[in-house]
Parts: sequence; structure tokens; C-alpha cells
Amino acid sequence: MAKPTAAVSGTESVRTTLVTAGRPERLPDAALNQPVVLASSFIAGGPLEYAREGTPSTASVEDLLGRLEHGLATVFSSGIAAANAAMDLVPMGGLVVAPSAAYTGVAVRLRELAQAGRIRLAIVEADDTEAVAGACADASLLWLESPTNPLLQVADLEACITAAQHAGAQVLVDNTFATPMLQRPLELGADYVLHSVTKALSGHSDLLLGALVVQDPAIDEQIRTRRVLLGAAPGGLDCYLALRGMRTLALRVEQAQQSARAIVDLLHVHPGIARVRYPGFGTIAAIEPRGCAEVADAVCSATRIWTYATSLGGVESLLERRRRWPLESSAVPENLIRLSFGIEATDDLWADLDQAIRSAT
Ligand SMILES: *Cc1c(COP(=O)(O)O)cnc(C)c1O
Repeated sequence: MAKPTAAVSGTESVRTTLVTAGRPERLPDAALNQPVVLASSFIAGGPLEYAREGTPSTASVEDLLGRLEHGLATVFSSGIAAANAAMDLVPMGGLVVAPSAAYTGVAVRLRELAQAGRIRLAIVEADDTEAVAGACADASLLWLESPTNPLLQVADLEACITAAQHAGAQVLVDNTFATPMLQRPLELGADYVLHSVTKALSGHSDLLLGALVVQDPAIDEQIRTRRVLLGAAPGGLDCYLALRGMRTLALRVEQAQQSARAIVDLLHVHPGIARVRYPGFGTIAAIEPRGCAEVADAVCSATRIWTYATSLGGVESLLERRRRWPLESSAVPENLIRLSFGIEATDDLWADLDQAIRSAT
């Protein structure tokens, strides 16, 4: 396995860790970057055995992600595979408390498990701390997403985590939207952090990858066993690309967040926009143009720089009317368009969005 990079100091900046972690040992002629290793099996006698258990490629991404979130990371073949591994650890019949508008795949999967009698499920509004705390009595797991997708509700993570801990429940925080640049839930006491590395972490819309990061080595061991037994192990090339993408996470998040803040201010006073949702940080916003779903579709189809496509967190700005998906929560307005800010010039992004809204509303 790739040797963990020596920590420079406990206060090393995230920006530095992003560049330095997950590299091969510094030896003469060693490659600077962890090379792509395409092997399912490894010669007996060392720590590597079989690729589901881990490879030099998974180890380097895990080194970096673990350092970013201050925990122990395990990567999976997608974010939803990582989510399923966490769900698999809930005891039979255990109560899971989850937000009303969580990531669609997570919400649907939790409902399936509840319908099959595998878990019990309580749905709450993530930004209603009292309701979250109340639902946690008797819970096995509090599943949080903050900000939520796509309503961008912000949970009081510290208060929710404390309430869950008092009730004896574990806490998982899906940190895909905030990224470890803006929020580190393990530091607030969460047991698990979930990432769709597919999104901002890898940042180039060219791979699927997921991760769970935990504090407790015993839980880490359980998570690694889930990867071995459920089989959702990522390939070497995807790990290589994810690591390469993560090197620039700080620059990308800063640029995209700067555009998001500037453009959200302008959207708030745009005559064609009825409502803007933005938590004040991060790279995702949501707008409701004046009019119905058809008007929102027309906005999405009228942009030339923004692309009408699902997913988020990439270098390219994307927009999407979320209710085009039949399984999206009915709590999401029909005309809501999610905006994922990329790293194009802010002025160009604004000019394009403004003309699209004006042409459609
Ligand atoms: C995309 C996403 C997931 C699922 O991740 P995949 O990599 O697409 O499987 C989970 N949670 C959130 C918040 C997401 O945006």
C-alpha cells in the first residue's frame, strides 16, 4: 500500500494536504504520482492480496480523504455504493432518522429497506433541530445531509449530532455538497462522513467514486469488510483520476463559490426569478423562475455556457430542473432549477443565465 505521507504538522492547511497527501514514498526514481495499478490479484506475502480488499490506487485516495476529513477513509465504486455499505451496518429493525429531501437514491433506498422490514424509518426536516432531536430517541442512526439536495436546507450539525449522541444513536453526514473545504463533520462528533467523490472532490464529471470516512477504527474495519463482501470496489483508473481532480479542489471550490455568491445576489433582484435558495456558502444554488415547469425547462434549454445535465461539482456549470426525475421528492417545487457553479468566468456565467431567464419568462 502507499505509505501515508508524513504529516507536516497538526495545523497543516487543507490546501497543502490536497497537494501532498496520497503520494508514493519519496525515494530516488519513485514516481511523483501514485501510478495506475491495474491488477485484481497481488503476489502473496505482503499486505495486498486481492483488489476488493484494497490496492495502491485505493490507498492513495483514502490517504488524502482521511487527512481531509480527519478520519479513516474507505473508497467505493460510487457514492451510492458507499451509502449502501453504511445502511448495511444498521442493525435489523433499527430506526434510521433521515431528512425529507435527501439525495434521491439515498431516500429511495431507505424507503425500500423500510418497506422490506429491514429498518424502521423516521423522516424529518433537516433544518428543524427540535424535530431531529425528538426523532432520535430510540434511533440507531441519524442520517444527515447538509446542505440538502436540492432544497439547500442547512442542519445545525453540532446540535443534531449532540442530540443523537445523547440518544445513543450514530450519526452519518453526507458531506458531498460542502466538501471538507467548508465543513468537517467528524470534528463535530459525527461517526461517518459520506462522499460522492463523483462530484466536487473529483470535479471533472468523468468518473464515479464514493467514500466513507470514520473516526473509530472498529467501525473502519466493518466498513472495509462491507467493501469486500458487497463488492463495490473502485477501479485503478478512476482512483487515479479522482486523486488528480482532488489536487485542485481548493482552487475550484473558491472560484465556484465566488461566482455562486455574486450571481445569487443578482438573481435575488431578477424580475424573472420568484425564489432563490442559497445557504450562503458552497457551490450549489437553486432558483424558481416565475412560471411553471415548462418555463423552467425553457430556461434550462436556453443557456449556451451552462449545460442542462444532472450531477454537480464539476469544473463546468450545470443546471437542471430536478422534478424531471419521477423519483425526486414532491417537496421539491416543479419549477425548481438546481445550479451547480463551475469555474468559468463569473461574468460569462451571469450573462448566459440572465439571457436564458429573460428569454423564457
Ligand atoms: C451524487 C450524490 C450521491 C450519490 O453518489 P454517486 O457517486 O452518484 O453514486 C449521494 N449523495 C449526494 C448528496 C449526491 O449529490
